[in-house]
Amino acid sequence: MSVFSCASVAQTDVPLPQESFKQCVARLQDRAADEGVSESINQNVLGKARFLEKVIGYDRNQPEFVQTFPGYLSKRVNDWRINKGREMLNKHSELLSSLTAKYGIPAHYLVSFWGLETNFGSYKGKMPIIDSLVTLACDQRRSEFFSKELMLALLLMERENISRESMVGSWAGAMGHTQFMPSAYTAYAVDGDGDGKVDLWNSEQDALTSAANFLQHLGWKTGFKWGREVALPEGFDFLLGGRENKLTLTDWAAKGVTKANGQPLGKSDIEASLLVPAGHEGPAFIVYSNFNVILGWNNSEYYAIAVGYLADLINGKTRLVRPLPELGDYEISQLRTLQESLNSLGFDVGEADGILGPATRKGVSQFQSSVNIVADGFPDQEVFTAVAKALTSKQTL
Ligand code: CA
Repeated sequence: MSVFSCASVAQTDVPLPQESFKQCVARLQDRAADEGVSESINQNVLGKARFLEKVIGYDRNQPEFVQTFPGYLSKRVNDWRINKGREMLNKHSELLSSLTAKYGIPAHYLVSFWGLETNFGSYKGKMPIIDSLVTLACDQRRSEFFSKELMLALLLMERENISRESMVGSWAGAMGHTQFMPSAYTAYAVDGDGDGKVDLWNSEQDALTSAANFLQHLGWKTGFKWGREVALPEGFDFLLGGRENKLTLTDWAAKGVTKANGQPLGKSDIEASLLVPAGHEGPAFIVYSNFNVILGWNNSEYYAIAVGYLADLINGKTRLVRPLPELGDYEISQLRTLQESLNSLGFDVGEADGILGPATRKGVSQFQSSVNIVADGFPDQEVFTAVAKALTSKQTL
């Protein structure tokens, strides 16, 4: 475990003050009664919840290395998933067409989410949901978030008549083929097969219909893609990148951006942002508003690109034109030190959390620009060296 992990755990791993697990459960039972959970579920399910030490372990587990985009994408978008996805597209073609007609979500996207979440239902998670949620609700780190999810999970058991044994999923509470949290299950899951029960574990039809319903509610724009790979001109200004900076396709084209194969982008006032998740040596993407819809499902740019890219491949498109660069691993602790250095140099990257998120990439690109290196927001060795140099000259002033 790195120094960073220990430090981070020390900051957050504080038990709820003066409260044992038993007291915590009693408090949650009062709240459940207030929120309309039946006496029977309250006593027999919540009252008998177990503390799961390993859930806290999973929650505290800090990876040692920074996850880079090439590593993330190649692990998730693989030949098995593409082929299986195509198989599922055929197998469920009738259902999927009806979902596209009703909700406006193309079939290959629904299948892509399904593949990424649970390998098309082959791994849905086996952790007892109520025990996991009670454990997390009684832990200080994200107590209120998980308390809310717990209440919804209990109400859901009642609403759908789900047994305690059937209520299984990920250690953090995600359930079924599409790994919906209790809040998403409650609000967006629907009875696709019409048997009167919303069952995301055992009914593929319920699960796919629920995914379509959820995406529609998140604001999916029918007829538009998630984004696409593009090619950038020589000397491109990478400060234009990042999700918050939106230009029309016409404007991107005027800046020399083309389709990945070199053909011109269509002229249009559709707004798009540009992302270079693996730096200027890797592929570049422009992303449309449906990309933000995918982020509403899971707020990770890597995830959203993976969903879109896998969907394209399942739909018969070809692999990225620009190969994924081989990026050396670096440790989270190194990234965290870099973040602290950038903050002290006046390039705001937000909290030094060891995560390569949008704020860090923005600060990195501003730093790169200030020292006249390619401002792609990717902290490669050149950036580490330049930051060290800048710190030294700052200290000698
Ligand atoms: Ca059903």
